[in-house]
Amino acid sequence: MNDGKITNADLLIVNDRIEKIAPHISDLNSAIIDAEGLYLLPGVIDDQVHFREPGLTHKGNIYTESKAAVAGGITSFMEMPNTIPNTLTQELLEAKYDAAAKSSLANYSFFMGINKDNLEEALKTDTENVCGITDDGLYFNNDEGILANYPDYLEVLFSRSETLIALHSENDAIIRRNTEKYRRLYSDDIPFKFHALIRSEEACLEATRGVLEIAKKHHNRLHLFHISTLAEANLFDNKLPVGEKRITAEACIHHLWFSDKDYETLGAKIKWNPSIKSGENKDGLLSALLDNKLDIIATDHAPHTIEEKSGNYFKALSGGPLVQHALPAMLELHHQGKISLEKLVEKMCHNVAEIYRIKDRGYIREGHYADLVLVDLNNPWKVKTENILYKCGWSPFENQTFRSRIVKTFINGHLVFDNGAFDETKKGMRMKFSKIR
Ligand SMILES: [Zn+2]
Repeated sequence: MNDGKITNADLLIVNDRIEKIAPHISDLNSAIIDAEGLYLLPGVIDDQVHFREPGLTHKGNIYTESKAAVAGGITSFMEMPNTIPNTLTQELLEAKYDAAAKSSLANYSFFMGINKDNLEEALKTDTENVCGITDDGLYFNNDEGILANYPDYLEVLFSRSETLIALHSENDAIIRRNTEKYRRLYSDDIPFKFHALIRSEEACLEATRGVLEIAKKHHNRLHLFHISTLAEANLFDNKLPVGEKRITAEACIHHLWFSDKDYETLGAKIKWNPSIKSGENKDGLLSALLDNKLDIIATDHAPHTIEEKSGNYFKALSGGPLVQHALPAMLELHHQGKISLEKLVEKMCHNVAEIYRIKDRGYIREGHYADLVLVDLNNPWKVKTENILYKCGWSPFENQTFRSRIVKTFINGHLVFDNGAFDETKKGMRMKFSKIR
């Protein structure tokens, strides 16, 4: 399954690359894998994960979460700077690459973080070796505020940056006002369903509108993470091919799967920022993906321990683990007739490579790295505690049956995941990027 086409063919891997794709390849020196009846997809590239290393490793680490990702068909990931210490210097950034070289089963890149104090440092980021700069998960100013709320700073950042900047976009003042309203009504025990109205549609739309205005003025290369409302999705353009867009955006698995009706049964387990909102938003995000206003699908994988997800509205942390179940969930939406396999591969593989200008990955092409996933579309399994690989040990998908199963995952030609078993003898590679035009 590649480039909008399903082809019946053989594929030859030599070392870490795809050597040849042809109707029949006979190479008696190679090990042969019979993939009859299965689909071979490019490995999924997830541009938004929080793997918690260093400093928060009780929730997860690069080894455990990359392992879960590989079992889910994700072959490359880009990781967020809200580890402890926050990734705000080039030295701390490189330390993460060093850690991943030793322990990551998947290919990796790490975002440089930005806040009010490190503009000059952030602008030193090497765009051919680092995926981009982001504020995601960071506070702008001493434990308070999101960068999207500081237009003067954004002006300076956008006018000076030649790097891709990826942002989390919500309006602080609106969230604060809504929080106080519900706190007056419920004290600390605000029912979780009101998360959708506290971190509201309006809070997202206001912030995204503001950020887009500044980015357009500077013709900046901007990517917006985890768009959660239809109103925001409608602000994006679908006229240019993804590789030519200066402004791109994504939807996340949880916003495409859950809606505000699910707070009743799942409560804090589906507390995310931005919040899970109405069913109209959920459906709207999917249609915005289908008509190319939204460009890619990511996870925002953000594990917390079950204890950290417990307690009242204010105690339960936002975020949840997703990398192991993202592709099976999207394949389930495919089974439900909501998205074609072609579109799913475009949004989870090809377009991520296009947006970040990743070198030699994201497609099944001769000469590209052999990052590949073999899936069985008709081999149902149920998400249970025993088969969850996240260090935190839980999933919002528990008891969900998925009709599709990840059978094998190849990374740089190496069969890392094979029917539930791992070969950890080779580690993933640091991704490389072409310069932004
Ligand atoms: Zn975020």
